[in-house]
Amino acid sequence: MEIRNIFCVGRNYRLHAEELGNEVPKSPMIFAKPTHALAEASGQTIQLPGDRGEVHYEAELVIRIGKPYQHGMTVDQLVDHLALGIDFTLRDVQSELKKKGHPWLPAKGFRNSAVLTSFREFPGEQACKQTDFSLRKNGQQVQRGNISDMLFDLQTVIDFIASHFGLGEGDIIYTGTPAGVGPVANGDRLQLLWGDEVLGECVIKLV
Ligand code: ZN
Repeated sequence: MEIRNIFCVGRNYRLHAEELGNEVPKSPMIFAKPTHALAEASGQTIQLPGDRGEVHYEAELVIRIGKPYQHGMTVDQLVDHLALGIDFTLRDVQSELKKKGHPWLPAKGFRNSAVLTSFREFPGEQACKQTDFSLRKNGQQVQRGNISDMLFDLQTVIDFIASHFGLGEGDIIYTGTPAGVGPVANGDRLQLLWGDEVLGECVIKLV
């Protein structure tokens, strides 16, 4: 499936904003990744930078936009597929960038920083709220989230992105991570679950 723009929402879950000592934002905080950052979580080994401080996992629900945005369209009209993703983050690099007031790209946009499971049909926003997503590291659950806990819901995020940056078919949105982020180590096995079902997994190699 063709992927065009990759948008991401920062600090969209209160407990995650607080665990990093960040203020809860008053409007959606959006950043983007290059498509070169994409990597599929289909069981393979994924290489991440091992020489730039801690690399953190951030498990997130990812939605795919299925048609050109027009004002007034609902989430269920616009979104055609969902996946789970990991928004990998160079946390130490990000802290330095924040201090300097520089853009986040070096901390968020590196190769393989946008991991994605396969896509499945979007069941509708209400149905999504019935299912938790989670991340297991080496067999243990480290993050669990539900989109009902988002600070800015899918409609707000979609409308915000569309009005500021444009939004169209093939764009995907990483919708933010719940609490529990942490570093990966060489050989870690990460599994992304939708309810009880594993949608994708990968093994980490720091290089
Ligand atoms: Zn994130």
